[in-house]
Amino acid sequence: MNSGAQITDEMSFQRHGMLESLRTKYGITDESVLEAMATVPRQLFVPAAIKSQAYKDNALPIASGQTISQPFIVAKMTELLGLTGTEKVLEIGAGSGYQTAILATLSRRVFAIERLDLLAREAEQRLASLGFRNVVLKSGDGTNGWDAYMPYDAILVAAGGPGIPEPLVKQLKIGGKLIIPVGEDQSSQNLILVTRKEVGYSQEDFGPCAFVPLIGKHGW
Ligand code: SAH
Repeated sequence: MNSGAQITDEMSFQRHGMLESLRTKYGITDESVLEAMATVPRQLFVPAAIKSQAYKDNALPIASGQTISQPFIVAKMTELLGLTGTEKVLEIGAGSGYQTAILATLSRRVFAIERLDLLAREAEQRLASLGFRNVVLKSGDGTNGWDAYMPYDAILVAAGGPGIPEPLVKQLKIGGKLIIPVGEDQSSQNLILVTRKEVGYSQEDFGPCAFVPLIGKHGW
């Protein structure tokens, strides 16, 4: 066996461990989410120096002081959106592009926004080299949403803000869902699921979480 194959074997072993923990420790039950996480090679989304830690049960540092979210939080947020493969999804805070890849596996099209230009360019290249053809990624302030492609079936925000950005709710379809960490300070948030109604929206709280800050017009 050559060393490339050994590395792949080691990574699939670790990926299997991650999936076990998502099922048993965290109670993720949506098989399509678990399957997507079994398919997307997370080790290609973390810096090369920490590749061996890619499947650990925590967030990891990426470039520009940002993080790739913990596998559980990626699974949980995706599961709460209830994707079936037909949706048009908006993602804010693409970072490494890992969550983008999971969303792109489970929906029809993903429009993703990342504030930091360097991260946006790297994520775009990574996703293209992995063969994702249903992702459009741009750099900018995602708290304004992306009105050119609205309305969205689902919106995922991967950074924590002080409240629910109004433009994002406006760009959701009636019945569409927005998942976002919201907190009064920058160090902790609660995971909030918003469902757009004919008039206004409803909110459900899925408990505490910790994200990097959502920085922008409708963020911090
Ligand atoms: N899902 C990503 C998480 C990256 S961390 C991953 O797993 O890799 C959150 C990202 O949100 C950071 O890259 C940060 O730069 C970005 N961000 C913060 N505020 C933003 C904004 N207003 N618009 C778009 N991206 C933003």
